[in-house]
Parts: sequence; structure tokens; C-alpha cells
Amino acid sequence: MLARPAVDLHTHSSLSDGTERPAVLMAAAAAAGLDVVALTDHDTWDGWEEAAAAVERTGVALVRGAEISTSAGGISVHLLSYLHDPAARGLGTAVARARDSRLGRARRMVERLALDFDLTWAEVEALLEPGGTVGRPHIADALVARGYVTDRSAAFTEILHAEGPYYVRYDAPDAAAAVELVRRAGGVPVMAHPRAGARGRVVEDVVIEEMAAAGLAGLEVDHRDHDDGARAQLLDLASSLGLFVTGSSDYHGTGKPNRLGEHLTDPAVLEQIEAEGYLPVVRP
Ligand code: AMP
Ligand code: FE
Ligand code: FE
Ligand code: ZN
Repeated sequence: MLARPAVDLHTHSSLSDGTERPAVLMAAAAAAGLDVVALTDHDTWDGWEEAAAAVERTGVALVRGAEISTSAGGISVHLLSYLHDPAARGLGTAVARARDSRLGRARRMVERLALDFDLTWAEVEALLEPGGTVGRPHIADALVARGYVTDRSAAFTEILHAEGPYYVRYDAPDAAAAVELVRRAGGVPVMAHPRAGARGRVVEDVVIEEMAAAGLAGLEVDHRDHDDGARAQLLDLASSLGLFVTGSSDYHGTGKPNRLGEHLTDPAVLEQIEAEGYLPVVRP
């Protein structure tokens, strides 16, 4: 049994690198026993409408969110935004730019890969939703389909990691500037998996301090990519900077082992997010 109400604030649909349509994800959230779920696709909120339409049927409340691609000193930083105004121009322009840059970057990565693997852009493109956000996971899935690796995780560790010869960077706004954009859009900014070192380099505390000065609201602490030491250190940092903490699954459907509800957020923190956010939570 999950604690009540069970709140999971970080999930992905097929509009980015999850494997399920938003409506399917909402049904999966109900089956997992969640009461509240946030849809946080990378650099897009095109999945909100479909997810919101499933709230009544599934009985699961929806927090409309996104995971914004940002960077600090060349290190990739993921910034969750909750309940922002989807029409806000600054944030909308920033994510549209990141999506564009991600597309050119994915094509260049496939060009590099094609020197060593039988792989074409068409195979990757076939895995994308129209207008969705492309990422390395889609390239990973194409490599899996070709039989070069067994799953996404192996594709990352063996072929697609940031230190490898096929990696290409993409343009994303500075992390502290993105925090300001989220706030100006009425969103509540929370730094995603700040110490997830297994996926690449992570930023120093000073970057988190700069983000806090720019208006950061919270840190995602309970996440499968954080060990106990990382969680303890992040709890200290959050309390010294006056930030709240969240816990979430970072569910990607069958694309990752992460299970819905494997980490949860205190309902009191959700209340604070809703009090600070522009949009309401969509409730059944
Ligand atoms: P990208 O934003 O295109 O550079 O790809 C990063 C995305 O790949 C993240 O959002 C994760 O969903 C996924 N990812 C990162 N590291 C791994 C890994 N080691 N195994 C599986 N998926 C990963
Ligand atoms: Fe992802
Ligand atoms: Fe992330
Ligand atoms: Zn995520």
C-alpha cells in the first residue's frame, strides 16, 4: 500500500522519451495506486490536454508540468517546472529552441553513428510522435531494434554516453536563467535529480545556490539515481537554502526500470506548489 494521498511528480509520456501516450500513462498511474501524478515531458507540454482528459475516467489528479533542458558550465541540468502558464512567451520560446536544437543534434549523432553501425535517421524518426521532443533514448531504441544492444541502459553505457565519440551537445538556456523564465511564467521550479552522477557530470553546490537565488523552489531528493549519501547531502543543502524537497519516479514507461510511485512527495509540498503555481491541479 502506498501512503495516502500518493503523489508522484515526475513522469514522461511518448511526447518525449517515455513509451506510453499520456492517456495510457494516466491509466498506469491509477493501476499503480497513485492519487496525483505530474506529467513532465522534456521541453514540451503538448501531452497536457490528453492527460487532463483522462483525469475523470482514471480518478488520478494531474499536475501539468515539464522538464526543461538547461545547462550550467557545459553540464546538463534538468529543471522541472510545475503549473506554469503554457502561453508564457519567454519559457515557450526557450523550450521551442531547445527542441529545435535537439533535433539537429540527434541527426548529427545518427550521422556519426552511421559510420560504425547500420542505422538511418528514418529509423529514429519513426519512433517520434509528431512535434514531440527527441532525445538520445530514441536513438537508443533504434539501436536496440537493430540488435546492437539489449536495452536503453546498455545503449547509454556502451554507445551514447556523453564522453563517447558519437555524442553531440545541444543548445539549452543557462540553468539560473531558466529558473527565472519558469517563475515569470508562473511556474514552480524544482531541480530534477541534482546528484544523478551515473548519467553524466553533475553541477557543484554553487550552481544550485545560484539557481536558488534566481527563485528555485525545491530539490528532487528521493530519486532512484541518488544513493543515501547524496540524499542526506541534498537534504542539508535544501534546508540551508530554504528549498522544499520532492520524491518522484521519473517514469519512462517501458523505456526505463523506474516504476510509478517508487518515490513519493509529501502532500504538504504539493499544496505549496499549487499555492505558488499559475495553473490549478486538475482534479477528478
Ligand atoms: P538527452 O536529453 O537526449 O541527452 O538524453 C537524456 C535522457 O536519456 C534522459 O532524460 C534520460 O531519460 C535518459 N538517460 C540518461 N542516462 C541514461 C541511462 N544511463 N540509461 C537510460 N536512459 C538514460
Ligand atoms: Fe528522459
Ligand atoms: Fe531528467
Ligand atoms: Zn525526467
